[in-house]
Amino acid sequence: MSFPALVEPAAELTIDEVRRYSRHLIIPDVGMTGQKRLKNAKVLVIGAGGLGSPALLYLAAAGVGTIGIAEFDEVDESNLQRQIIHGQSDIGRPKAESARDSIREANPYVDVVVHNERLDNDNVLQVFEGYDLIVDGTDNFATRYMVNDAAYFLKIPYVWGSIYRFDGQASVFWPHAEDENGQSVDAPCYRCLYPEPPPPGMVPSCAEGGVLGVLCASIGSIQVNEAIKVITGIGDPIVGKLMIYDALEMEYRKLKVRKDPNCALCGDNATVTGLIDYETFCGAISDDAAEAAAGSTISVVQLEHMLKERSEGTRDFVLVDVREPNEYEINQIPGSVLIPKGDFLNGSALEKLPSDKQIVMHCKTGVRSAETLAIVKGAGYSDAVHVGGGVVAWVNQIDPSQPSY
Ligand SMILES: [Zn+2]
Repeated sequence: MSFPALVEPAAELTIDEVRRYSRHLIIPDVGMTGQKRLKNAKVLVIGAGGLGSPALLYLAAAGVGTIGIAEFDEVDESNLQRQIIHGQSDIGRPKAESARDSIREANPYVDVVVHNERLDNDNVLQVFEGYDLIVDGTDNFATRYMVNDAAYFLKIPYVWGSIYRFDGQASVFWPHAEDENGQSVDAPCYRCLYPEPPPPGMVPSCAEGGVLGVLCASIGSIQVNEAIKVITGIGDPIVGKLMIYDALEMEYRKLKVRKDPNCALCGDNATVTGLIDYETFCGAISDDAAEAAAGSTISVVQLEHMLKERSEGTRDFVLVDVREPNEYEINQIPGSVLIPKGDFLNGSALEKLPSDKQIVMHCKTGVRSAETLAIVKGAGYSDAVHVGGGVVAWVNQIDPSQPSY
């Protein structure tokens, strides 16, 4: 289904702009009018990370006149495998500033607006206000739901994307979309597709599970493709459609997503009528894990002390790393044994644990080990503990000679 163009054309293109965008101008569907619409468009990209990097560069190259960058993080070496808008010399710089400089180099005619702050309930509506369209490159569920709700309240369409290992998804969420005759098309929002966030700990982040770098380009370019279509009113944007991409099978599938009449946000009897507490809604860890970890979390400094006592023979315990084997290859806390979280979920791990020793567990950051701690405590290991901050804290505070990831 096609939609009327979202953005009115700018008054004119300069001679320099005509030269620059000539390969767009000679496509009949885009033409001078389409390019003027791009020039007049204001697009906000949330995150200058995996998806934001290619999205920002292509939006800029395409001639989108005003581009906002909402990003609070700094460039880390582990970003450069996929976040191609940043370079080696940008390590340690704010990502928003690094991205701005790359955009200026790609296209000096773009007006770049830097929002170097973490989006939250206090600022999200002000930041979104005035943009025609949003490209969401967020990597966590709490922000994703907040973006969806804020965009809905401000009636701004947004292009969503997500990536994990070899799999990507994308859609255009535009519940207020109208057809050429001004009639509502009953398009869904993100909550119509995913009414509830996944249980905490069930869906690993890219930091926990990894992502193929080039997958970001595949999904990020779909997002820009759809943004250009919505802005200029060409083609059939994936409103009410979910694109699913499998990089290993090299397969794209397109599924229909219907508006949910019972949607908490855009349904007939909406219960979400303002921004909510998204951290609580999505939960950092499950209730069971939080209960198990309360009073049973040690720091890496305490762990270092315990390991010293163990080496001196004055203490005995088993240190269990619940990460995956490929993570264990990258870095370890010395003296740990690897038993992946999956073995705790299927019960096979419990057979491997001694019944007469204290169990100390860790993972990358402390989320997975809190989940396995709940299982181990449930099996009767009442003095089991886990390490807050996991191997990330260990490398940062105790052993910086090991690589982080
Ligand atoms: Zn909805």
